[in-house]
Amino acid sequence: MTTTERPRYQLVIDGQRTEAASGQRYDSVDPYLGSAWASAADGDAADVDAAVAAARRALAGEWGKLTGFGRARLMRKLGDLIARDAGRLAEIETRDTGKLLREMRGQLGSIPEWFYYFSGLADKLEGTTIPGDKPNFLVYTRREPAGVVAAIVPWNSPLLLLCWKLAPALAAGCTMVAKPSDYSPASAVELAALMDEAGFPPGVFNVVTGFGPAVGKALAAHPDVDKVAFTGSTAVGAQVAAAAAQNITGVLLELGGKSAHLVFDDADLDAACNGVLAGVFAATGQTCMAGSRLLVSRTVHDALVEKITERARGIKLGDPKAADTEMGPVATEPQYRKVLSFLDGASAEGATVAAGGAPAADLGGFFVQPTVLTGVKPTMTVACEEVFGPVLSVIGFDTEEEALALANDTRYGLAGAVWTKDIHRGHRVAHAMRTGTVWINAYRVVGPDVPFGGYGLSGLGRENGIEAVHEYTVTKAIWVELTGGTRDPFTIG
Ligand code: NAD
Repeated sequence: MTTTERPRYQLVIDGQRTEAASGQRYDSVDPYLGSAWASAADGDAADVDAAVAAARRALAGEWGKLTGFGRARLMRKLGDLIARDAGRLAEIETRDTGKLLREMRGQLGSIPEWFYYFSGLADKLEGTTIPGDKPNFLVYTRREPAGVVAAIVPWNSPLLLLCWKLAPALAAGCTMVAKPSDYSPASAVELAALMDEAGFPPGVFNVVTGFGPAVGKALAAHPDVDKVAFTGSTAVGAQVAAAAAQNITGVLLELGGKSAHLVFDDADLDAACNGVLAGVFAATGQTCMAGSRLLVSRTVHDALVEKITERARGIKLGDPKAADTEMGPVATEPQYRKVLSFLDGASAEGATVAAGGAPAADLGGFFVQPTVLTGVKPTMTVACEEVFGPVLSVIGFDTEEEALALANDTRYGLAGAVWTKDIHRGHRVAHAMRTGTVWINAYRVVGPDVPFGGYGLSGLGRENGIEAVHEYTVTKAIWVELTGGTRDPFTIG
């Protein structure tokens, strides 16, 4: 592809496509080919100011005057348009991220459901009337839009994670400035075109792309942003929260994880093996909910590890666009280097490589072999820190108490799974796990209607489900005096 044929993505501000105020652009790299496939405008704080101002104006304009019924109509239309273009958008996401086309087709095909589900809530944002103990007052509440939302998202599921924020924010009546990851700028700009086509007024959805932290920093610290919704690493999430706190701006944080599978001796080992593979090798392990720790009863440890290593060695790596590829490359060069340094560290700390353990250099690009590490101690770096790559750490246990202690011995708390046929133990263990999601005999299932979020370093607040809309509203209490009488000005109430 020559430079002139490459897509050139511009900023979207107030419905206009513009270059960055600085005039700078940067290349977006196809991780499979290791070469540029598109370029994007390299925005900065000046562009953020313009986008936030546009989003503020849109709140006061035609969009702000729509009822929930009107917003729901536009959202349903947008869902239809995303469904129409899901195949094209999936190809774009695969170019930007190196994720499997077959996974991205499924993922993009599911995004309309987020707009349909949340459109169903847009016209049901009811307040309450409060009976109270003051008969001379009618008191009621209203759920009002939080206002301008800054959405800062990562590269691993770019459009899906953006829409987890956009759909409930639109239902609530908010406007948005989106900052896609430096490494996956394309799909957010494409989404803006579909929003124009659906009939959303200019300024409701703005996109500021940019390389490096400048755009995200400016958004998190912006005094005219009312809510910051961030998905990304825990380290950056903490910086975002600190910046937002200077303006007492609310934050929704979806951060990293170190999720565990707890496999008990009565588990269906074939099902558990599949679940473990889905948890840590699907998407090349680049998911926040990666099941990167396998805690397994010592009585079935060897049998399960044998199944997993056999399957891991047979995973087909290659072109993410090919129908038979099961694992694509790691998405960025820095991430690729980070995964390899975890592998070096694990060997140095004494873990045993049962499968993989090295780059798949013959494939070019940023490929890492699916890796299973046994003999891992809970204190080893690879067992404590998020790898964000295809690396499984296996740790044995003898009792349920030990399994739970190991599972909860982490400052993260995003997700996890219990594998057992004992219904009592399944629920008991699920209740005792300090994670936002627990699957029993399953892994990596999400939906627009089910709350998702973390304990501890994994985040703050919940996306999806009815709670997600409430994240984007503020409650106002209204007191109406009913008698017209006067009162003593020097007493309260
Ligand atoms: P990242 O934290 O490096 O970047 C996330 C976003 O923040 C990007 O858009 C980036 O440009 C921006 N950013 C970078 N520095 C910033 C700063 N100082 N201020 C404001 N914004 C800044 O994360 P990543 O590497 O793109 O994504 C991987 C991480 O995301 C992993 O830790 C993963 O677990 C997490 N993640 C979490 C969830 C979840 O729902 N909990 C989902 C997917 C990914």
